[in-house]
Amino acid sequence: MNLQDKKLWIFDVDNTLIIDVEHPTPFEDAMMLWNALMKKGYELAVLTNVGRLSSRQVNNALSQAGFNISPERVFTASAAAAAYIQNRSPGARCFVIGEGGAQEDFVTRGLDVSNNPPIDFVAVGADRGMTFEELNFAVKMVKAGASLICISGSRDYLGVYLGNEDTFIGERSIVVAIEHATGVEAIVIGKPLPEILIETVKALGHEVSDAVMIGDNPQSDIAGGNAAGMTTVLITRNPDDIVSFEAGELDTTPDLTVDALDELISKI
Ligand SMILES: [Mg+2]
Repeated sequence: MNLQDKKLWIFDVDNTLIIDVEHPTPFEDAMMLWNALMKKGYELAVLTNVGRLSSRQVNNALSQAGFNISPERVFTASAAAAAYIQNRSPGARCFVIGEGGAQEDFVTRGLDVSNNPPIDFVAVGADRGMTFEELNFAVKMVKAGASLICISGSRDYLGVYLGNEDTFIGERSIVVAIEHATGVEAIVIGKPLPEILIETVKALGHEVSDAVMIGDNPQSDIAGGNAAGMTTVLITRNPDDIVSFEAGELDTTPDLTVDALDELISKI
């Protein structure tokens, strides 16, 4: 595998470029590789499973950390979910559970976000302020025929909410309650779903064979990148900070594993 032939480098965000979106401290090795790639004229993009922040908010966190990139090159699970719905049902009426980021990505992409019936799609992102009424309404709308979308698939994650550092249950855990109550299975949009990676590469005008996916998580970044046909690089970070996903039968073995991203600079 020759990394010099690659044109597009797609980075995961949390635990790859920065600690996480609520602690936007950059990793020094990531910054060194990022700057070296920019200097050599490679195209860069980011693809994150974070669904509680919009593309614009993730872009802000990255800028704050010193990773400068145009907002059009920041892809989130909520933006991917919005694109998925818009492709199938333009302007669909969506009830969105989330902390505002997903709602912003949905509205930006032309969907009709509403808290009242009728609802075509119930889309669920991580939401630490979710109420029983919202969960119950989501169940009612799915029972009435709305499609159920899970924006990314984390069971739980570390974060800060209202000043409190804690582990919080993620969107997948919320969606399981709706699945259980309705008997309807959700469509999970996010890494490792290979379509998300393929769509991201295509949206940037490239072929998957020209693209590299770099991330810390074998179950999302590597499994998704492999299934999409991209070259995959695993960065080994703190294993306690890896968010738990379901990769199913997908291959989680990276093409390359590094302990620090600046190890790649001599290969580009
Ligand atoms: Mg990550």
